[in-house]
Amino acid sequence: MPKVPGPRLVIVGSVGLDDLETPFGRAKNCLGGSASYACAAASFFARPGMVGVVGEDFPRVHVRRFRARGIDLEGLQSVAGRTFRWSGVYESNLEDRRTLRTELNVFAGFRPDLPGEYVRAPFVLLGNIAPGLQLHVLDQVRSPRFVAADTMNLWIGTARKDLLRVLRRVDLFTLNESEARELTGRKRLDSAAERLRSYGPRWVLIKRGGAGSRLFGPGAGLVVPACPATEVRDPTGAGDMFAGAMMGRLARESETDRPAMLRAMRAGSVVASLGIERFGLESLWRITPRELARRIRAFEILCGEDAR
Ligand code: AMP
Repeated sequence: MPKVPGPRLVIVGSVGLDDLETPFGRAKNCLGGSASYACAAASFFARPGMVGVVGEDFPRVHVRRFRARGIDLEGLQSVAGRTFRWSGVYESNLEDRRTLRTELNVFAGFRPDLPGEYVRAPFVLLGNIAPGLQLHVLDQVRSPRFVAADTMNLWIGTARKDLLRVLRRVDLFTLNESEARELTGRKRLDSAAERLRSYGPRWVLIKRGGAGSRLFGPGAGLVVPACPATEVRDPTGAGDMFAGAMMGRLARESETDRPAMLRAMRAGSVVASLGIERFGLESLWRITPRELARRIRAFEILCGEDAR
């Protein structure tokens, strides 16, 4: 039998069920987790392979949705026990969020072991999980072309050493503004990014919510705005969707130079803005690839400079 090629993009992260409360409403048992958001976003551009773990209670409907979007699930482990659960509540500014509860459940014993051909993936996204687990994935992949890692404030406080080890081994590191300041102790973003780049990654992407995002790398920095006129209902997973779409676009193009990074950031901005219009992954499941392509073209025109 001819060998089936593995995914060009592997994404590792959490897969969970979230209870969310925003000023616009509440949702219980929403599909969530960094890998769910990132894979759904990447799936518009490439066929991502998901690496994560779920328990027996994980609804089959989500598995069917992942499959319908072409997400490869060979790396999704299904084990005895309950799925990871998280709940959070947003303040009225939609930027500040409090975690009410984190139940690791099956995630507590998770070892992200890559199946078969996944180890040869040229593009790898280490979604937000414990840096020790991100390192475990890095130890398995064979000379990937481009590796990105995302993180969250929790790990800066509790696993800083491992996080710095991750940084040494990735091409792109993504984090939000306050995390960049916390990790480097520097207030000014360009100064924080310079420090982060000195730790290893060629590119550092700093996400600034409604203020857009900035990429620091060789040469002058790149700035991409958030999509205008987005009606935000649930900001959960915006960063994961941004990173997922960005890596999906890079994997599809097989380019990682500056113009490709700019195109990838614009894709990330459009998908993230779309994703936060409804709770959980609802918006990403609803939109057709054609409509998304239309939105990306419109955003590129709006941004002006031609990134083709
Ligand atoms: P974000 O809004 O980008 O921080 O991503 C939110 C997602 O992260 C939610 O869907 C949660 O299920 C997931 N999450 C929350 N805490 C953790 C954690 N400690 N490790 C991994 N994923 C988490």
